[in-house]
Amino acid sequence: MDSNNTTGQEDAARRVALVTGGSRGIGRACAERLARDGYDVAIVYAGNEAAAAERVAALEDLGARAKAYRCDVSDSAAVKATVKQVTDDFGPVWALVNDAGITRDGLFARMRDEDFDRVIEVNLRGTFNMTRALARNFVRQRGGRIVNVSSVVGLHGNAGQVNYAASKAGVVGLTKSVAQELAGRGVTANAVAPGFIATDMTDKLTQDARDGYAARIPLGRLGTADEVAEVVAFLASDAARYVTGEVIRVDGGLCM
Ligand code: NAP
Repeated sequence: MDSNNTTGQEDAARRVALVTGGSRGIGRACAERLARDGYDVAIVYAGNEAAAAERVAALEDLGARAKAYRCDVSDSAAVKATVKQVTDDFGPVWALVNDAGITRDGLFARMRDEDFDRVIEVNLRGTFNMTRALARNFVRQRGGRIVNVSSVVGLHGNAGQVNYAASKAGVVGLTKSVAQELAGRGVTANAVAPGFIATDMTDKLTQDARDGYAARIPLGRLGTADEVAEVVAFLASDAARYVTGEVIRVDGGLCM
């Protein structure tokens, strides 16, 4: 899935973005938006080869160098190896978007240990693994952007999602701590907290459930992945250089 497009390498101004979960949904939209902003893009995915290959081709069509890496973000050894490979392939990473995430919903009293643990491992531990693996990269270049995808559920809780809410609240705490540790090196760390966004993840809901959520959203509809990507791209941009440790809701006003 390597790119033959050398445009990026020839243009010293191009920066490198690593987007976990970049093959589908919100991560896919972020990868595309960053490619449009002039980034070369490494995407990390869990197992859906077809979606990843399609994404690489789409990113190349936008003029970016692009490559997909199959890696379970919860596996710290695999993450270290992937980050090394990305850096060998692209050079130093400027923007890290930790988007990879899963749900395993259920009422908390009946939640199975493995469903609690797996959601924490992917959503929270995965964000930690990736960020730690790139820490030296950021410190060495004395600059960079970390954008973590949390959720309004991490800020407000949600019945049936105790594992997911805990993981996303953890991402907020992690983001603010990393922001404090890396601020002196010129690196920012922020989070976005999407509300209900139309992706494969929310496609699992029944139409009735989706209509019910839409009725509670002041802007009257579910959001799109592109609308989240706009905010992620802002946080990754030079325009956001004085913003760190922040969490920006992208939820149509749901949790105001
Ligand atoms: P999605 O459509 O289900 O896509 C998930 C992406 O993450 C895929 O690229 C998937 O790769 C990858 N992934 C999953 N587990 C992984 C793992 N262990 N290691 C590496 N990659 C992994 O999800 P989405 O709706 O776009 O959600 C993206 C993020 O936004 C998640 O963190 C989610 O919690 C958050 N979020 C979503 C919503 C919403 O309403 N959709 C709201 C708030 C927050 P494969 O395709 O290869 O499996």
